[in-house]
Amino acid sequence: MSTRYVIRFDDITPGMAWSKFKPFEAVADALQLPYLIGVVPECRDPSLSVELERADFWPWLRERASKGWTIAQHGYTHLYATKERGLLGIGSKSELAGLPYDEQLAKLAAGKEILLREGVWHGVFMAPSHSFDANTLKALKALDFSTITDGYGFYAYDLHGLVALPQLLARPLGLGFGVETICLHANTMSEDAIQRMVDFIKAHRTTIIGFGEAIAIEAPSDMVERMSRGLSQAALRAYRLVRG
Ligand SMILES: [Zn+2]
Repeated sequence: MSTRYVIRFDDITPGMAWSKFKPFEAVADALQLPYLIGVVPECRDPSLSVELERADFWPWLRERASKGWTIAQHGYTHLYATKERGLLGIGSKSELAGLPYDEQLAKLAAGKEILLREGVWHGVFMAPSHSFDANTLKALKALDFSTITDGYGFYAYDLHGLVALPQLLARPLGLGFGVETICLHANTMSEDAIQRMVDFIKAHRTTIIGFGEAIAIEAPSDMVERMSRGLSQAALRAYRLVRG
């Protein structure tokens, strides 16, 4: 048994740091790797526009999708509206959590509309700042989303009728079982960090899998799934408490 990895990139926008993302795209092409990427449908967050906007952004996404990459809807505009931590208790800001259901539904529907129009809506949701609440999940269900890339544990589980594939850290733990989603923000990665991650990807090629494959991996038993979820949640909460 070995750990399987999903490589996830947040904050995919027309003005992202393409120069930093380039080495990751090159290694994906060389090794035929399927990444999970979170696309902001209509980015209005100025902090995410750091390089010249790519004119062929949508065709580029369609081409990536044709290579097996999974496209997650990363919010709608990526502007934070509340200071809610959401169900997972991570971070302290949210584009959605804490807003009334109708407002969340409208935002998510507007984002979905854009991705649908561009032919890159995959029914996967990635919450900005990992923050969503019960109304977010209800709205996602109403809009026919099937899956979210967030949660505790090492196996996919049911979260209010959606499939949640856990996402814990920005670096691999390699515990030897289950699935780990490694969450990367290319915009803010140093050259060293990029090189280390590219080296990791090359060294772990056979254990890096696509999002669809990852959600199909079942825990040895429900008890193992619940235990790994409870333990990882307690460990991460303690870790964050220490860090402050
Ligand atoms: Zn983000």
